[in-house]
Amino acid sequence: MTHTTPSDCAIKILSWNNPWLQLPEDFYQIVQPTPLDNPYFIHCNTHTSALLGLSAEQLHNEATLHFFNGHQLPPEIQPTASIYAGHQFGIFTAQLGDGRVLSLGEALGHEDHRYEIQLKGAGLTPYSRTLDGRCPLGSAIREYLGSEALAGLNIPTSRALCLLGSDTKVQRDYLTTGAMLVRMARSHIRFGHFEYFHHKGDFENVKNLTTFVIEQHFPELLNEPTDLRPLRLLEAIVERTACLIADWQSEGFTHGVVNTDNMSVLGDTLDFGPFGFMETYNPEFSANSSDDLARYQFDQQPEIGRWNCLALAEAISSLLPSRTIPAKLLRLYRQHYHQRYLQHLRLKLGLRTQHPDDTQLVEVLLTTLQQGNTDYALFFRHLANFNTQDKNPALYALTTDAAKLSAWLTLYQDRLSLEHVSPQERQKQMNQVNPCTVLRRHLLDQSINDAERGDFTAFYRLLMLLQNPFEEQIGMAFYSQPEQEE
Ligand code: AMP
Ligand code: MG
Repeated sequence: MTHTTPSDCAIKILSWNNPWLQLPEDFYQIVQPTPLDNPYFIHCNTHTSALLGLSAEQLHNEATLHFFNGHQLPPEIQPTASIYAGHQFGIFTAQLGDGRVLSLGEALGHEDHRYEIQLKGAGLTPYSRTLDGRCPLGSAIREYLGSEALAGLNIPTSRALCLLGSDTKVQRDYLTTGAMLVRMARSHIRFGHFEYFHHKGDFENVKNLTTFVIEQHFPELLNEPTDLRPLRLLEAIVERTACLIADWQSEGFTHGVVNTDNMSVLGDTLDFGPFGFMETYNPEFSANSSDDLARYQFDQQPEIGRWNCLALAEAISSLLPSRTIPAKLLRLYRQHYHQRYLQHLRLKLGLRTQHPDDTQLVEVLLTTLQQGNTDYALFFRHLANFNTQDKNPALYALTTDAAKLSAWLTLYQDRLSLEHVSPQERQKQMNQVNPCTVLRRHLLDQSINDAERGDFTAFYRLLMLLQNPFEEQIGMAFYSQPEQEE
């Protein structure tokens, strides 16, 4: 790490502004972080620092370390914790809020893009309830790898900027290391921020927040008549949510806690808790072991996304012109969802044109994968090598139901004959969208277990692969494979 003067530190280079301070004080409290003891960098992410226009050296230095550890922040930085509510597992909780997260504000990055930078694990806030305001190292690594994996797959998400370890201990099932995750997103405003004010009957602040979100993030809506803007905002959020969940479904990502307080109004993936990537295709895959009613299992996500949009519609209803809007929203959500999902699957299948039978082709494929206990990611990766002149042993090795696979491959072959693309060209295109590395559970667990023992090698290697998931790296085949039985 470079020992630099404070003038090289991220704080001095970036231009900061905390947008929360433009809202009435009902929305947030200014809270100073509680620094961790003896902090050290575990990782600095050059992919995201580049988005901020920061070089690796400008991020990886002593002054920046202490800045992100929240040590004596300069007066121009006023960290905020915001208040929100949320439907958790379908049940409304009237008050939640940033219990272990502080917003340092927005930094102006490359091409004038703005990113809200947050510290996760920065100590108690007025919204910590009975919890400790800290982030255990294992959770921080989960979020770091989860968010970078989605970004690698080009799925909208918050990003990880850097990770700090420390000598501070936090108690969970066992005593573990306290970490600080520095994360960034275009915004961390959640459906739950609207719900908090609506369910309190504070419609003035619902209006303030609506105006704020439009001005900050949907400026194109300022061209709409004033009274229609909240409806247009809702429609835009519905579209982004439907598209986000379609992206998750196409890559087998299961968030695990799709509560309204974890839903971004910008359609980014937020808050990585018990998430998981589906390996063997199984629509009932659940990533969250405490989700007893299977509310958030893989195949429920599209419907839950729609349910959450209706909760948001209710939270904005005081500003909407008519009570009949939810029915329209429902249609809108499903339309966007199906369009995006099919578009994504066509790309994964190497289809450039559209055909009316494509929905059926996908449906039969999913049944085939399920009945054949097939690994989802590996199947698409190997499908790029499908060759009608060949017996395709690599594909058949992935299924326990060869007859079913053979029937689907016949359909696929017929469909490909309408495409007029050379097999080489199709293979190239498919390998650009079908990852060879996905964040498999055993790889994630190994990274966390090793990190908790102070060995970050597995974490670094996995991160590097997930940030380039479409490239086959020499000697790294182990990372593409499901866990091998002993
Ligand atoms: P999450 O499951 O991380 O989305 O958190 C749900 C709610 O609990 C949010 O309001 C968090 O801020 C809060 N929370 C979770 N863990 C902690 C913690 N260790 N300390 C304080 N608040 C927390
Ligand atoms: Mg959350």
